[in-house]
Amino acid sequence: ETSKTGNFITQIIDKDNETGKHGGKVLTRFPPEPNGYLHIGHAKSICLNFGVAQRYQGQCNLRFDDTNPEKESVEYIESIKRDVSWLGFEWKEEPKFASDYFDALFDFACDLINKGKAYVCDLTPDEMREYRGTLKEPGKDSPYRNRSAEENLTLFKEMRDGKYADGEKVLRAKIDMSSPNINLRDPIIYRVRHVHHHQTGDKWCVYPMYDFTHGLSDAIEGVTHSICTLEFQDHRPLYDWMLEALETFHPQQIEFARLNLNYTVTSKRKLKQLVDEQHVNGWDDPRMPTISGMRRRGYTAQSIRNFCERIGVTKSDSIVDVGMLEHAVREDLDANANRAMVVLNPIKVTLTNYPEGKEEIFTVSNHPKNEAVGTREVPFGKHLYVDQADFAEVPPRKWKRMTPGAAVRLRGGYVITCDEAIKDEEGNVVELLCRYDENTLGVNPEGYKPKGVIHWVSAEHALSAEVNLYDRLFSHESPDAKHEDKTFLDFINPEALTVAQNAKLEPSLLNAEPGVGYQFEREGYFCRDLTTDKLVFNRTVTLRDSWAK
Ligand code: ATP
Ligand code: MG
Ligand code: MG
Repeated sequence: ETSKTGNFITQIIDKDNETGKHGGKVLTRFPPEPNGYLHIGHAKSICLNFGVAQRYQGQCNLRFDDTNPEKESVEYIESIKRDVSWLGFEWKEEPKFASDYFDALFDFACDLINKGKAYVCDLTPDEMREYRGTLKEPGKDSPYRNRSAEENLTLFKEMRDGKYADGEKVLRAKIDMSSPNINLRDPIIYRVRHVHHHQTGDKWCVYPMYDFTHGLSDAIEGVTHSICTLEFQDHRPLYDWMLEALETFHPQQIEFARLNLNYTVTSKRKLKQLVDEQHVNGWDDPRMPTISGMRRRGYTAQSIRNFCERIGVTKSDSIVDVGMLEHAVREDLDANANRAMVVLNPIKVTLTNYPEGKEEIFTVSNHPKNEAVGTREVPFGKHLYVDQADFAEVPPRKWKRMTPGAAVRLRGGYVITCDEAIKDEEGNVVELLCRYDENTLGVNPEGYKPKGVIHWVSAEHALSAEVNLYDRLFSHESPDAKHEDKTFLDFINPEALTVAQNAKLEPSLLNAEPGVGYQFEREGYFCRDLTTDKLVFNRTVTLRDSWAK
């Protein structure tokens, strides 16, 4: 279902299937580096890679690109597996790791040396930068470039055996120091790093570089179409060079435009900074554009998949309006979330003519557009809560809510008219004395017309809860762009989280399942928080887009 529409990638695959290039086989992979949590940009890549595999009854591997052990962790690995599954995709067998191939990669590197296509280089990083040249100037050959294969092999094995300190020697591919493509100017393919690896422990003190590892991992797995983002276009010649030099199976790298969202930062490095510097409360903070944050906020997997489907796959960079993402979840929850009544900022209402001690139970539908989801019971009594925002002593023009002398309907209940607002010493309205009209349950009153409909909760039956009102994390459209003496941190929206400390819920919400969406009538879409047993709800999105210009 995530692969309904074709795109330029499926056109390439269709052609390959016509010519029989891979015998009709389609194998893709999603290759995250476990150095952070997945974000909405990764969701696009997941939907694309797994979606393409589904479309052709092929397979998509989950492969951890784990060649930088210092930055990686098992926590990240576990979170990535959780997020991919939650999004609704299945990888075959166990997830794969580039580190599974360290032995094979070491052998490939030895092959390159034997073919005279790799050499051990002793230049320092600074020297290497100088020798590399610039976009305008060709580079210079390293003085170590002409070592014999034999010497190189000995040195490379010594590197592996721990004879050298970090940075003392590297293995480089021998390609072309004057190539206009700097990626081809004898790139490093192995470096010495005396660090522990989360998968291979202390077995290795040399680690392969991304460009060397990636293509060969693809080749080892028999990946047919290696889909990556546009930044890797300039690396494709290196990807191809490596596979040709080693005469391996040759997957085809295809680049697509990464997802950029306005009002959002999608760089793992910056998201990590938000977490590390405690601008947010962890990777799964509901303000974060991470998959785990969105899940906790109440985004459904379906809505994220719909969004990814809608934005499509192209070859040119653009910026997508985050409103499209919010629209996708609003649309899904409007169709599928049950309704409930919650008063965020309560004010007491007393129905002066309602008998003391009397109690009624109203049966209300769970969803106005879907009878199949049934009804629920909502208790009613003499004491209610309504929202402060629904009362105005001096109403603005066209006011349709409560004000002294005016009638409003309680959703699913009676029509009431406010007689008096009781104030505390500071002049704050603390209670509304109202009359109810007993002939108005489900029927219009005679002789007068209520102006609006408001939500309410029976005070005696209400549950108290904390409700987190989330909004966009950044108040600037492009927090990530270059700004004069400002960084993305300066654009954090201080209103991205406000808390309704003392919200009053209708009692049916006691059994709300964490993560399951509700429409709190007239307020927005909410779900119970996943990380606490307490009654805490998170706002997923408002009913309407208040950011629309
Ligand atoms: P970041 O830039 O956030 O650090 P990354 O590309 O370094 O991301 P990886 O873990 O390497 O992170 O990403 C795994 C896969 O997800 C890659 O194939 C990458 O191309 C893809 N991906 C990452 N960010 C985006 C994005 N914004 N839009 C689409 N695909 C993305
Ligand atoms: Mg990457
Ligand atoms: Mg990165």
